[in-house]
Amino acid sequence: MGRIQVLPDILASQVAAGEVVERPASVVKELVENSIDAGARRITVEFQRGGARLIRVTDDGSGMDRSDALLCLERHATSKIRESGDLAAITTLGFRGEALPSIASVSRFRLSTRRREDEAGTLIEVSGGKIHEVQDSGEAPGTTIEVADIFFNVPARRKFLRGEQTEAANLLQQIEILAVAHPEIAFTCIRDDREVFRLAATEDLAVRLRDLHGEAFLKKLLPVPPVDQGGVRVHGWIAKPGEGRGDRTLQMTFVNGRMIRSPALSLPLREACDGVLAKGLHPPAVLFFEIDPTAVDCNVHPAKREVRFRDPAAIRAAALKAARVAWEGASPLAGASASVDLGPGQDPLFPPISKPAWAPGSVSQREFEVQELESSRIAEIPASSGFSSPVSGLSAPLFLGQLAGRYLLFDQEESLMLLEIRAARERILYERFMVRLGQGELESQRLLLPEVLEMSPADIAWIDAHHALLKTAGLVAEAFGRDSLKVDAIPAEATSLPVMEIVTRLLDELRALPDSPTLNHSSREALAATVSRLAAAGARLPSGEEGARMLLRDLMACELPYATPKGRPTMSQLSPGELQRKFQA
Ligand code: ADP
Ligand code: MG
Repeated sequence: MGRIQVLPDILASQVAAGEVVERPASVVKELVENSIDAGARRITVEFQRGGARLIRVTDDGSGMDRSDALLCLERHATSKIRESGDLAAITTLGFRGEALPSIASVSRFRLSTRRREDEAGTLIEVSGGKIHEVQDSGEAPGTTIEVADIFFNVPARRKFLRGEQTEAANLLQQIEILAVAHPEIAFTCIRDDREVFRLAATEDLAVRLRDLHGEAFLKKLLPVPPVDQGGVRVHGWIAKPGEGRGDRTLQMTFVNGRMIRSPALSLPLREACDGVLAKGLHPPAVLFFEIDPTAVDCNVHPAKREVRFRDPAAIRAAALKAARVAWEGASPLAGASASVDLGPGQDPLFPPISKPAWAPGSVSQREFEVQELESSRIAEIPASSGFSSPVSGLSAPLFLGQLAGRYLLFDQEESLMLLEIRAARERILYERFMVRLGQGELESQRLLLPEVLEMSPADIAWIDAHHALLKTAGLVAEAFGRDSLKVDAIPAEATSLPVMEIVTRLLDELRALPDSPTLNHSSREALAATVSRLAAAGARLPSGEEGARMLLRDLMACELPYATPKGRPTMSQLSPGELQRKFQA
């Protein structure tokens, strides 16, 4: 007698029915999770045409006997829970007994399976939910499931599939998540008959992360030693202070082995970074939370991506502690990239880094190459720019000097006016880019020698799928082998940044855009904002008084001079009254 039992109706109704099969990536998730539950040591995922044509998952797990193989295609057939009490403490990945029948009902489905102890295995062919064929098969122990022509019989659903490249990128990302959750399992991934990766089994999560994302990624992380906090155990890896990304694709949080995206997990991680990481950036992390299974309800979302915590406060405390423990003793500069604002003294964790030097008329202690601000368009400062005072008066502001390589100081009719150089550049470039995008693409600068970068297959798939968008941003790049990217040209204004930084930052931010085949106004705005931020980050200091004045004039010629596209102020002012109050004069 096999191990699978049909769920009694009463239990079946406790398990909220839902759609499991959304897209090829969700099929892969269900199949691979079944393989993991079956104790597989090696799992191979093959797919063709973004998974729409074929998905094949092969494992060396327990396999099924014939009666189980037939039964697993029935609704609510599961070997994983027997009675409603089990629902409260789920430890396997699957438990609904819904995935296989759902998948088999919308595809041409082939299951071949053999237990080690059985002489012959079983092959079952199903098409659109109807069993066509049951026969002996003689394959290696384990299970192979093929899902071909997904949604072939449900054209309405097929229409919702995105382009092949997008589906492939989703699918690869899903496999990456599963591979990170289970370094002890060897994973092979084959896309359109080409091997994308082959990951050896390892006991060491760091090895798995390196195999997937490269040495450079691993170097950005710090280990989180096991932390115990209020019944929650956490361990894993988290980015060094200052290493952030504009999206959360590299933030993987697992609860009892299941990848979960939840504000209950991501908010405390972001909170831990306050003062260390600029707003809008998120720390890459791979964190495993272990909690009492009865304290988490994973039966909230049909694909089990969301959960409800009985005690979110305990989760928050554990996440905060994990980040702090990892960062203890880590020098703030160790991981801080140039793009990150580590304001002196902003965070009690880290002592101030350097004292700003008051250096009128000279460049501060930081070494910056000085360069004329290229400015083809020095407009007159509009007298009616609407700003309460600085430059609308008749007398031009008097340039006082630069501070800390970051601010320009002006005397504006006895007020002290501070202009933040980077924010000002961002605004100026943004408005220029908007004009250019209205006409076509942003300018790009060809590299003398193409640069080859190591990247994850998921990133490469995304880049392949978004060629046109990247070209519009001025980046010309293509896949080069299975885990490298060849970059031929970069945005013309951003040439002083390392190519790797340009690519990862563009990728981070552009990924957050809604996927749309053509650029509309709001995606043009987002693109212009992204590239202007990049270009401003790499821009050099304006040289001397002349450069400072040009920057101010260019800024005041903008339509909205007083803030960056993201709302950061470009200027600030201390009035004579405010100055007097400060000195109690
Ligand atoms: P669930 O995972 O929720 O139990 P599924 O529909 O995904 O439901 O699978 C039904 C049952 O089929 C599982 O409980 C398991 O017993 C069996 N099964 C599915 N895939 C495999 C596999 N790769 N190896 C062994 N058994 C499997
Ligand atoms: Mg399952």
